Amino acid sequence: MPPARGAGSPFSGNPGDRDPRRRPPARATPRLTLDTPVTYLKGVGPVRGEMLARLGITMAGDLLRHVPHRYEDASTVTPMSQASVGSDVTVLGQVIAKGVLPTRKGLRVFQAVLQDASGMLEIAWPGQPFLDRTINIGEWLLCTGPVRFFHGRRLQPREFVNLGPDEEGTGEGRVLAVYSSTEGLSVRVLRALVQQHLDELLPLVTEPLPAHVLHEADVPSLRDALRMVHRPTSVVEALAGRARLAFEELLYVQLLHRRANQLARHSRVGTVFVNKRRLTSQLKATLPFTLTGAQMRAVREIVADMASPRRMHRLLQGDVGSGKTVVALFAALLALENDKQVALMAPTELLAEQHARTATTLLAPLGITPTLLTGRLGAKDRRAALARIAAHEPLLAIGTHALLQADVTFADLGLAIIDEQHRFGVEQRATLGAKGATPDVLLMSATPIPRSLALTLYGDLDVSLLDERPPGRQPVTTVHRPESARGKVMDFASHELDAGRQVYIVYPLIETSEKIDLKAASVMYEELAGGVFANRRVALLHGRLPADQRDEIMRQFRDGALDVLVATTVIEVGIDVANATVMIIEHPERFGLSQLHQLRGRVGRGAVQSYCVLLGDVGADAAERLGMFTATEDGFAIAKADLALRGMGDLFGAKQHGLPAFRIADPIRDEALNETARVVAERVLQADPELSKPIHAAMRQALNTGYARALELFRVG
Ligand code: ADP
Ligand code: MG
Repeated sequence: MPPARGAGSPFSGNPGDRDPRRRPPARATPRLTLDTPVTYLKGVGPVRGEMLARLGITMAGDLLRHVPHRYEDASTVTPMSQASVGSDVTVLGQVIAKGVLPTRKGLRVFQAVLQDASGMLEIAWPGQPFLDRTINIGEWLLCTGPVRFFHGRRLQPREFVNLGPDEEGTGEGRVLAVYSSTEGLSVRVLRALVQQHLDELLPLVTEPLPAHVLHEADVPSLRDALRMVHRPTSVVEALAGRARLAFEELLYVQLLHRRANQLARHSRVGTVFVNKRRLTSQLKATLPFTLTGAQMRAVREIVADMASPRRMHRLLQGDVGSGKTVVALFAALLALENDKQVALMAPTELLAEQHARTATTLLAPLGITPTLLTGRLGAKDRRAALARIAAHEPLLAIGTHALLQADVTFADLGLAIIDEQHRFGVEQRATLGAKGATPDVLLMSATPIPRSLALTLYGDLDVSLLDERPPGRQPVTTVHRPESARGKVMDFASHELDAGRQVYIVYPLIETSEKIDLKAASVMYEELAGGVFANRRVALLHGRLPADQRDEIMRQFRDGALDVLVATTVIEVGIDVANATVMIIEHPERFGLSQLHQLRGRVGRGAVQSYCVLLGDVGADAAERLGMFTATEDGFAIAKADLALRGMGDLFGAKQHGLPAFRIADPIRDEALNETARVVAERVLQADPELSKPIHAAMRQALNTGYARALELFRVG
């Protein structure tokens, strides 16, 4: 659900879809409002107006909304005399010489010499000769970057700010706001423009959030916050102002999600399952293990959902090996003891078979046999399965996409369970749901994402979390070894093979160079199969193989008919081969941390010690990243680190998930704030579900202005 315009800031929307009638009719209207075109402001002519428009600033209020993206604290400046080679510093000085120098390779370098009270320093911008036009002698620059040795000390700025010709305001303790700027409109001009108009614009800002919300979230008023971000007296204050703006964005999104959820619950009339405690109690009694606390909690949450008159729409989220399947079986039994049918869908045949196997074993004491439906079934078996599914009798059908086919007709589907839900498209999930009148829906996912983010991503879902590992599971010993240790690593693998274990060797797959990767894997496969693993049963698994061949190889590996599996593709999600104890990952730097974690989850499935070896030489950054991975098995911590490193869009594909486009907030970094926003949103809606109370009018107005979806969720007052 993308917001209609930007991020629902209270003052204005995007320049693109603005109603022209709201603009003042002519220059004759002198009174300044936040909707006044920015070109009416002193210091903004048509030329600057155009440049500002490029930054999305067309109205006076937009200038306030153009929040600095970072701050330079002049109190952390290093005197130039102390900027030593090898250090990373911020310096502040005046340009005393400058020029563009060509290098032998044809690269043109803009250079300037800066001077402060302590000395001079050379600054160089390779490949940016155009800076010669914007940086002038006599101007003060604040530069941050590494100091290297190049015919003397030389700083190469990562970032810099041109403060202009007067040093005013760069003194000790002064915090400088740095705005995103555009060609022809420097940070300096932008900052001056904001400073010039801040005092006349701030009084025009009205507060959209009611006092009780400000109080509960412990954030400053909007007016104060805007002053704090644009004219901070300290970095701490600037961040507090930013937090308020971020909170407001998060609050709006949470209000929308929570409201949508509320409405959905009311309109979602589903089956009322009666908790008869017949089959479920039997399973509890016959299980070969006791449920973890997290599993019990999840089962309780699911039972409460299913026993209520609304349709369940719940995501069961848990790290690899956290035991989601058995939780799903409890849900299935509740449906079965209410004479309903259950469908459990998995993304691959192997996984479906594995689930069927697990269910067959665990439910045998209860006299329940699941019905398997995959593409592998012969015509006769398939007909038999379809007949059982169509018959008016409770049953547990386990299968793949095959369950979605048109000729699969459930007599009375009461519960649809989808494992590894992210592997299915929206339509596929909907198709399974449509196989019954109003089946409850349970989605399962192993991608461990923080709860607050899950709520932001899947706002309309309820979330149950398995944040506890079944006891007795041995941690997987994880190490990173350099290329020079390859021989030793393979010897170690041989040693494990001698003990009767199985080994995975995984290669990364980069889509754009699939052929090259395939070649690398094939070469390695042949080398291994003809060399160190000559007397082993080795197979190569890659994405170019037809699906049935891939399944066949995985099946052989599962059944112990293969010792070593060399794979280019990510090995089957969720597959359980307890005898596999070694996972060797080549080019580990090419994988995301979460991906590595999923791979590691393929071993350590049994009671014996397992190993995950990242093999190969990597750069310093990658080594640090991988170090984080080898140090922990906490999937949530890893996912969080991954998110922080790669960004949400990368991990989840912002568009697919309809992530709201936050301007200021970042649901990962602002996790605590997001949690506050969720709690506050819930409380607000409990007291005033339609935001129809006068104290919420301004907030509702802001929502309606910022988000198209608000119009259908809250009545326009
Ligand atoms: P995942 O959440 O990755 O799908 P599974 O449901 O496949 O995990 O469970 C992983 C393994 O842990 C299975 O072999 C399962 O039988 C076992 N298991 C599940 N719950 C428990 C428990 N409470 N105690 C011990 N073992 C458990
Ligand atoms: Mg699973």
